[in-house]
Amino acid sequence: MIRPIVKYPEPSLEEKCVPVEVFDEELKNLARDMLETMYAAPGIGLAAPQVGVNIRLIVLDPTAGDENGHQMVLVNPEVVEVTGRQKEEEGCLSLPGLTAVVERPFSVRVKAQDLDGNPVEVEGANLMARLLCHEIDHLDGVLYLQHLSALKRDLLKRRIRKLIRNGEW
Ligand SMILES: [Zn+2]
Repeated sequence: MIRPIVKYPEPSLEEKCVPVEVFDEELKNLARDMLETMYAAPGIGLAAPQVGVNIRLIVLDPTAGDENGHQMVLVNPEVVEVTGRQKEEEGCLSLPGLTAVVERPFSVRVKAQDLDGNPVEVEGANLMARLLCHEIDHLDGVLYLQHLSALKRDLLKRRIRKLIRNGEW
C-alpha cells in the first residue's frame, strides 16, 4: 500500500525516532509499504518518519527499482565508520522539487538489523554513502537543510514558504 509522504515543515520530521524492538508482521508490512511508496514517488530512499511512523527503519534502492537486487531494508541502522568527503546535489521526498549541494562522507560503514532482528553490516561509497547518511539522518530528525549554510537554508525555506502560499507544495 502506498502511504502519503510527510512533507516539511511537519514537526514530526524533526523529531528523534525510537529504536525498533519488536520484529513482527506489522514491521514487515510497514517496510513493504515504504518500498512501494518509495518506488511510486519515485525515489531511491525513504525513512519511516517520512510516512508518519517515528521508528528507526529505512528502505533504499540506489537504482530506484531499475535493476533487481539493490533493494535494502535496514532496522536500527547506525553509522559506525566514515571515510573521506564528497559534495553532490541531493534531494528529499519530504522536500519535493528542491535540491541542494550537501557535503557527506565519501564512504560509510553501517551496522543495522534485518526485519527478523539479525545483525547486518553494510558498506557504501559515493551515492550509496550519501543515501545511507541521508536516510539515517531522518531517524534523528535531521533534514539535509541542516547541513547547508544559514544563507542557503534560509533561501530554500523562503522558496518553500512561497510554494506553500501558492498552494504548490
Ligand atoms: Zn529525505
